Amino acid sequence: MRFSTIAVHAGQRPDPHTGAVCVPVALTSTFAMDGIGKLRGEFEYARSDNPSRHALEISIAAIEFGKYALAFASGQASSTAVLDLLQPGDEIVTTPNVYGGTYRLFHYVYNKYNIKINVAANTSPETINKTLTEKTVLVWGETPSNPLLDLFDIAEVAERVHNFRNKKGTQPLLVIDNTFPSPAFQNPLLLGADIVTHSCTKYIGGHSDVIAGAIVVNDDRLYEKLKFYQNAAGAVPEPLSCFLLQRGIRTLPLRMKKHEENVYKVAEFLRNNIAVEQVFFPGFTDFPQHELVAKQMRGLPGMVSFKIHGGIDNVKKFFAGLKLIILAESLGGPETLICHPATMTHAALPKSEQAKIGITDNLIRLSVGLEDPEDLIEDLQEAFNTI
Ligand SMILES: *Cc1c(COP(=O)(O)O)cnc(C)c1O
Repeated sequence: MRFSTIAVHAGQRPDPHTGAVCVPVALTSTFAMDGIGKLRGEFEYARSDNPSRHALEISIAAIEFGKYALAFASGQASSTAVLDLLQPGDEIVTTPNVYGGTYRLFHYVYNKYNIKINVAANTSPETINKTLTEKTVLVWGETPSNPLLDLFDIAEVAERVHNFRNKKGTQPLLVIDNTFPSPAFQNPLLLGADIVTHSCTKYIGGHSDVIAGAIVVNDDRLYEKLKFYQNAAGAVPEPLSCFLLQRGIRTLPLRMKKHEENVYKVAEFLRNNIAVEQVFFPGFTDFPQHELVAKQMRGLPGMVSFKIHGGIDNVKKFFAGLKLIILAESLGGPETLICHPATMTHAALPKSEQAKIGITDNLIRLSVGLEDPEDLIEDLQEAFNTI
């Protein structure tokens, strides 16, 4: 079936016992047994599996066109489960721009397990290929990236990574953090990636009311390993969070369309504003990797970043002048959020690392919500007027 139909129905068919059209929220920590080794139903203990999470995992696998999904208590918990696939001495290659929390997890947590991170100098497939070492077991990328919206060719990187053999004789796994485009606009497994991760906190939940994450894979063995970690470490989402995510998924295609419509208008407004020095938006035909939008995406999420003239003092004045748009971390909700990557989402990066990847003090990231775009543009214009 087509994407909108899958989003409404996968994992969300009427409950066989009661006929409830929505999946009931199963608030129970455990499940009765009929005897030793005899489960009464499908479930045993809610950390291992439970009806609400089971239904959600079916939904997420379906919208990502994958075989299996696993849900976690946060995007970071799902990233941790992927990193648990590594052994001490293994190495990871990442693209230069990744979420600040991912950087923190790599460099400040997994580093101490003797796992080395090699950062590619740019996102070209050749450069990523050249950064692979004989110890590389994972290649981790975000496209479009956070916060500068760099794109790379997933299919081409997948092919190069899979043609490579590390000294264990295995091909590295390609992991794509697909949080920004959401499954509505990009499906990395269909392009050759091995693992997709999500912060469901963002577009999948879509209402700024849940923290959660997910992993999607096709390979049976990989799934079994990740499922083992999910249960062993136990960073699982609550049933109510699962319910809210499934509710979000039903409207994901509709919401993404509106985010996209709005971001084009806001990006165009920003580009024509004299207070703005530079706009980063893959929808512009002069954006460096613009042709990849049509090649591997079905649309663009509501993300646009820009630099304003006048440095941090003007950024502060500009933020203070906003009345409708909210200064906050996160993205992908109905309300438009603005953030300052250097001190917020990417504060975990040392200044020198920020400078290397273009995160300057005058960089601003906007998550364009579902409001009327004219109201957003008026709010931005009034705040620009104050500087
Ligand atoms: C927010 C975010 C994460 C982390 O997800 P949490 O749900 O906050 O733990 C990971 N990757 C990207 C791209 C994000 O935006």
